Amino acid sequence: MRCPFCSIEDTKVVDSRLVAEGDQVRRRRECQACSERFTTYETAELLLPRVVKQDGVREPFDENKMRSGMQRALERRPVGVELVEAAINHIKHSLMATGEREVSSLVVGEAVMEQLRALDHVAYVRFASVYRSFQDLDEFRKEIDKLSAEAATATASGVDVD
Ligand SMILES: [Zn+2]
Repeated sequence: MRCPFCSIEDTKVVDSRLVAEGDQVRRRRECQACSERFTTYETAELLLPRVVKQDGVREPFDENKMRSGMQRALERRPVGVELVEAAINHIKHSLMATGEREVSSLVVGEAVMEQLRALDHVAYVRFASVYRSFQDLDEFRKEIDKLSAEAATATASGVDVD
């Protein structure tokens, strides 16, 4: 790290300790050139990235907007609130884990689709048909066929699906 006094990059950590109940690392550093000492604090950055829309506009990640989109797809489907919240948390967690400051709205949309697919096939198809606006009918049909095949397999193995 660059010395704030003389701008030489050759500084050395002389002490390092956890502070703020372990959420932060405080480091005392000493410049090898001018011998000045200074302190740095290190914290994990777990912020939700900003969302870059397809027209290039950036906006803050909006959890409520995502939730209402998912709820719309799940309307009158037998999926409990806890499962939806768990899916939302999962999406937020994976977005934070990217460490990116910005993600494409497509990435968010794909993450939502992935979760809905696991929750409820009807909700998934509803969301996907609106969101992805399938390029052509063939693509959409292929997706439905895939889901039907999965449902058939699940039924065959005794899992209750509808
Ligand atoms: Zn210095």
